[in-house]
Amino acid sequence: MIKLPIAEPKFTVLAAKDGQETYHSFSRGLCPSCKRPVDGVRIIRQGKVYLRKQCPEHGQSEALISGDADWFLKSLTYIKEGSIPLKHSTAVDKGCPDDCGLCPDHEQHSCLPIIEITNHCNLECPICIVENRHNYDMSKDEFARILDGLVEKEGVLETINLSGGEPTMHPQFFELLDMARAKSEISRVSISTNGLRIATDPAFCEELAKRNVYVSLQLDALSNPALRALRGAGDQKLAKEKALANLERAKVRTTIVSTLARGVNDDQVGECIKLLYERDFILSLTFQPAAYTGYGGTHFAPHNPMDVMTIPDVVKAAETQSGGLLRQSDFLPLPCSHPSCFGLTYLLKTEGGYVPFPRFLDLEKYLEVISNRGTIRPDETFESAIRSTIDEMWTSAGQVPDSDKILKSLRRAIFLMYPEDKALELEERLHIGESLVKTVFIHAFMDVHTFEVDRIKKCCTHYALPDGRLMPGCAYNNLYRAKDARFLAPVGEPRIWGKDELKRSPV
Ligand code: SF4
Ligand code: SF4
Repeated sequence: MIKLPIAEPKFTVLAAKDGQETYHSFSRGLCPSCKRPVDGVRIIRQGKVYLRKQCPEHGQSEALISGDADWFLKSLTYIKEGSIPLKHSTAVDKGCPDDCGLCPDHEQHSCLPIIEITNHCNLECPICIVENRHNYDMSKDEFARILDGLVEKEGVLETINLSGGEPTMHPQFFELLDMARAKSEISRVSISTNGLRIATDPAFCEELAKRNVYVSLQLDALSNPALRALRGAGDQKLAKEKALANLERAKVRTTIVSTLARGVNDDQVGECIKLLYERDFILSLTFQPAAYTGYGGTHFAPHNPMDVMTIPDVVKAAETQSGGLLRQSDFLPLPCSHPSCFGLTYLLKTEGGYVPFPRFLDLEKYLEVISNRGTIRPDETFESAIRSTIDEMWTSAGQVPDSDKILKSLRRAIFLMYPEDKALELEERLHIGESLVKTVFIHAFMDVHTFEVDRIKKCCTHYALPDGRLMPGCAYNNLYRAKDARFLAPVGEPRIWGKDELKRSPV
């Protein structure tokens, strides 16, 4: 083992010494004990990548940051220049990550702003990455200020997300939703929910559908022991089944979100993929390797920082557990934020089932299509990629397996999204695209063990605060949330709602 010298700020002298591990690069992370920013190195050992840090006070620590060194090394070649927001809210002063945000050193604009409208919740999930103190509901004034600030900084926004706590417990939930929908600069509004209210209240679900809301439903597994380990007591399986049934009946556009914890539900990856393939109303599936921060960071077990799920582990599980539906080669890092943050694949709907884009689209075109965005955007880049792929597949006469079915679907996409007799609004094309393409994302949030400054600087997922700041997600969760003045009041009474109704509600 290479010992880091305590007083040495750089590690350029380090190199492979014993044939067992190789120095890869300098990094800067957090001491897991005091959360102070400290220097470190990335080490490759036995095909995996580790982050080793040295705190002057608490000594050395190490954590796994990638379960596959090849994926890690390849992903670094996907780093792309980001886009800068129209306005910053803080100045560069103490240095990253102490100047959030966004300060002028930040390297990416906000692709997905998250607004936490309440810290009340009707579950107490052992894996929760926030800390619900049951003492805050966002006021309409605060919400209006945030929306205005987002438009000022971004111009137009593809999606904003309402979260919590459990956002459906906000007493003025629909009023806030309508305020967001009334902004012409915002195309989509999504909510992140545990689904308990949706499971117990079909009329509530109908209201979501009427408002064209996109629902991200937390669904980590399809069986109870794993669900209980991650989400606490109660019949979680019944709740998820009822939520799925109500969402499907109301035709709500739905994403399922599965938090994956090593040794708890890492064997459920294939089940979630099959669910995505089987149910039309589920447009996408997001896997989130567990980040051990917030309530979960303090309490959750088992957790060994040297043996956690990382993006390439999810990719491997997708291949081994999906019965051939997905392969490792179907996934790529997403260059929107830092490539260590996201992996993804797009799936084209064909008569014979879903076909991952990388099986028929060449890499360069695929990268153009996914560049700087997490969802298909049916703009000119997309149109030109699809048209040239049709030409190439036509001339290459069946070299791609299932090329007849793929060609038919691509032609249909062009016919529906870009008709010759009229120009459709982008919004209309987005909705058509949603019926033709599904997405599998992997979003690897960081905790104090895995946090890296060069990743956070490229973060595109930002919490929007009422004071105008946009806080990069993992910086807020690990460093700022506990100091947020909105939540400092004494812990309040939990607002109980949902568990009793669950037993009575019809499926
Ligand atoms: S994470 Fe971004 S906004 Fe925060 S201090 Fe670093 S560069 Fe600035
Ligand atoms: S929230 Fe964390 S994992 Fe997600 S993009 Fe930002 S830095 Fe990366």
